[in-house]
Amino acid sequence: MRDLIRKLLIEIGEDPDRDGLKGTPNRFEQAWRFLTSGYKDDADKLLNNALFEVKYDEMVLVSDIDFYSLCEHHLLPFFGKCHVAYLPDKKVLGLSKIARLVEMYSRRLQVQERLTTQIAQTIFEKISPLGVGVIIEAQHMCMLMRGVEKQNSRASTSSMLGCFRRPETRMEFLDLVLNGKRSR
Ligand SMILES: [Zn+2]
Repeated sequence: MRDLIRKLLIEIGEDPDRDGLKGTPNRFEQAWRFLTSGYKDDADKLLNNALFEVKYDEMVLVSDIDFYSLCEHHLLPFFGKCHVAYLPDKKVLGLSKIARLVEMYSRRLQVQERLTTQIAQTIFEKISPLGVGVIIEAQHMCMLMRGVEKQNSRASTSSMLGCFRRPETRMEFLDLVLNGKRSR
C-alpha cells in the first residue's frame, strides 16, 4: 500500500520525499487498515453469544448510530446517522451489537443502499424477528467536495422487512425516529 501511495503522490505532481509527505504513505496505510477493518469481521462472529430469548414483543429501536464509511465509487467518505428497529419474535440482540453491526458493514467499501439492506438482512436472518426497519441519512464527500450537489444535501435510504412493510409499523418507526429528533 505504501508504494502505491508514493506513486499516487508523484502522479498528482507532489514530491513524496518532502518533509510533510515522508510519513504519509505509512499513515495512509494505517488509516486505511482501520477504515476497512470491517472485512475482518463477519456477522456470525460478531453476534456470537449476543442472542437472547426473551418475552418482549414491543419495538426495539436504536437510533442515531453514528457511522463513517467509504463510497466504493470514489473512495471518499460518506457518513451520518443510522436508525435501526425491529419487532422481536422470541429472540433479541444485545443492544450494543446493533451498533457493532453498523460499524462492521460501514468499515468496508460501500454504497449507502447496500449498507442499509445488509444491516436489515443480517438482523432479519439472525434473530428471525417479525420485522426490521433500517434508515440511513448520510452526507457524501464525493457530492459535497466536488460540488455535484448543494452543500448539506443529505441522502436517505431505508430497508423495511417483514411487518415493517405494513404502513402502521413503518409509521410507528418513523414517528419514534422523528420524535427523538424533535426532543433533542
Ligand atoms: Zn461517491
